[in-house]
Amino acid sequence: MDNGTGMTPQFNPALEGPGTSTSTDNMVFPAPEDNGVRAVIVRLLPSGAQERKLRRLADAASRLWNELSYERRQEYFEARRRGMSQWASLKHVDLRGTRKKHVPKYTEVLGAAAWEVERKNSEAWSAFRKTLVAKFEGRLPPWIHPSPPGYRKDRAAGRRRLWIPVRHEMYTVDPEAHVIYIPRYNLHLRFAGEIRWYGKQGRMEIWYDDARHAWYASIAVQVGAETTRNGTRPPHIVQGKRRSIEVARPKGDEVAGIDLGVNIIASVVVSDGAWLLYRGARLKEDYFYFEGRIARLESEAAHAKAGGDEVKYYKLWAEVRRLKRKWTARRLHLYRNLASHLIHELWDRGVSSGVSTIYVGYPYDIAQERGNKYSVNIWAYRELVGVIEAKAREYGIAVYEVFERGTSSHCAYHGAEVSRHPRGIVTCPVGDHRLHSDLNGALNILRRGSGVLVQGKENLRLLSFIVDHSGVVPANRIASAKGGNAQSPGTYPT
Ligand SMILES: [Zn+2]
Repeated sequence: MDNGTGMTPQFNPALEGPGTSTSTDNMVFPAPEDNGVRAVIVRLLPSGAQERKLRRLADAASRLWNELSYERRQEYFEARRRGMSQWASLKHVDLRGTRKKHVPKYTEVLGAAAWEVERKNSEAWSAFRKTLVAKFEGRLPPWIHPSPPGYRKDRAAGRRRLWIPVRHEMYTVDPEAHVIYIPRYNLHLRFAGEIRWYGKQGRMEIWYDDARHAWYASIAVQVGAETTRNGTRPPHIVQGKRRSIEVARPKGDEVAGIDLGVNIIASVVVSDGAWLLYRGARLKEDYFYFEGRIARLESEAAHAKAGGDEVKYYKLWAEVRRLKRKWTARRLHLYRNLASHLIHELWDRGVSSGVSTIYVGYPYDIAQERGNKYSVNIWAYRELVGVIEAKAREYGIAVYEVFERGTSSHCAYHGAEVSRHPRGIVTCPVGDHRLHSDLNGALNILRRGSGVLVQGKENLRLLSFIVDHSGVVPANRIASAKGGNAQSPGTYPT
């Protein structure tokens, strides 16, 4: 089949590599979708009396959390002291017993929210268990040390943090009047901010932000869910603006293959012949900056502890946690910038008809390469694919993952094993031709996923970008000055 855009579907058994009996079909699978839940965050504007009530409630919720954490941690660390592994110690945490013991003391003041505090605490233990598994399987970066859930407490100030989770059936939201109503507490809370999403409401969390001296509420919304399984309207719907995560449909049927990496975060080949490169210099700079600072603080903290200076120790650890949060936020921000730019580029190809399906290489070998630097580990890979998938969904673009085994070591055109050279060049023994390794990877992924191979170097048009914190900018000025589909994205539907 030749659809006139310069590519021919092909299948090359050599690409499957030696000793693999797996068919192409089960080497391609849909990227996991997120659960369609989005958060709406608003600022609460309580009156004086309402604020006093909120403080009382949030303090009680926080106290319950700390009691649960304390007892569960005792059980955990007691087992650790007896020489058990983290994993075995977890089995000594009696979630049910501690629940029965502590929650009923708080139901009178908090109502169903008391159970919600416990549910959230149990979720934190379950997340700890999953992180341990990930660590054990070598899927975590070396600086992540899984630890059991802690306390809702500001150590420096010696106060409990004010926080309360509110169950989904305990509140209603009126987006027009800007009021959240919680009957159990007789609270009509005014709020500032827009309710962006429409759908079934989940847990609402209310907290006090010490730095901003303000109360906030975060509402989980299952976007678009308006009816229950038997077709009736669930009573707890947030009537926000958008009923669908999807805001646009694909404009065409082009396909794209993506090879994720370190120096080049994403190398993307489109079936219409475009080759998009997203350079990751900022990500790398950030990595080295944060890695260095965190390592220094950790060693200072160790000294402080050895010297018996508890205050300094806690202060340093608070700073370490702050830096880790900041690094995560910065990385995620870069990923979102990339995804937003990339998906829009693919959706609106300008010269051709737009992409409807994306194939992302799943780095098969990475799990084995423990401690792989900064961005390329399964953990960061998941984060990046998750961000790309979430953005693609807004445009109705499907995302599949493709096992990468052999995609970088074999020529996309001939299936022969390539030899690698400096500066990311590979040469193929068939005809002794040269290819950029990132291009070869993306071509292979695209072909393995869709059967499409972009033919001939003359059909490829390179567009190069730098992923920065302020956005994505073209790396080559010429491409920028000429404008064109890549640099003048027109109107985003979001
Ligand atoms: Zn070749």
